[in-house]
Amino acid sequence: MEKIGIMGGTFDPIHYGHLMTAEAVRDEYQLEHVIFIPAATPPHKKQSGLTPAFHRYNMTLLATCSNPYFSVSDIEMNRRGPSYTIDTIKQLKELYGTQAEFYFITGADAVQGLPTWHRIEELLKLCHFIAATRQGCLPDVDAIKDYFGELGRKKIHRLATPELQISSTDIRRRLKMNYSIKYILPDAVEQYIKKEHLYQSP
Ligand code: ATP
Ligand code: MG
Repeated sequence: MEKIGIMGGTFDPIHYGHLMTAEAVRDEYQLEHVIFIPAATPPHKKQSGLTPAFHRYNMTLLATCSNPYFSVSDIEMNRRGPSYTIDTIKQLKELYGTQAEFYFITGADAVQGLPTWHRIEELLKLCHFIAATRQGCLPDVDAIKDYFGELGRKKIHRLATPELQISSTDIRRRLKMNYSIKYILPDAVEQYIKKEHLYQSP
């Protein structure tokens, strides 16, 4: 079996919280590699103000290129309509065949929302979910597992990861107010943000 991690998100912008979580899960679950998938049209977020997908894709590439286990996929960007994970996993299953086993990596905050995800029961049959705990947010992952019964207990896992209190929201706020974003995300991403004048007040 080939174990493949999926790190989904808006990555607006990508930061060390995403990178460290993906690496910790890869290490712990001995994943062959982790594919970062920027969502073109995330179903759970406000669309207004979202940075164009090609910028978020480029930043994700810049952030991950130094890790040989990481890659970036544009499969959600090339699909119309909301970026549902069920469609993504189905597409990946076709691409990788029956030998691949998928591990969808989320922060614990995201796993809390699982009951509202599109065709979640079907999705849980197709892949594992790893809930990485994140500071300031200690949800009861067991309650979520129980919510889905046996399927949940089999397919949802919890992993305590080093907690970095970083969010893209905070980074965007810092940029608007001209605060430094050094050491929160990779240098190359910071340079890209500056070069493309992203997240600045008009
Ligand atoms: P925003 O503030 O815009 O919501 P974000 O920082 O939460 O951005 P997302 O792109 O929404 O980033 O998240 C993608 C995935 O990464 C989600 O599963 C989220 O839970 C997880 N994640 C985000 N920040 C961290 C962090 N600091 N540590 C661990 N996981 C994180
Ligand atoms: Mg978020």
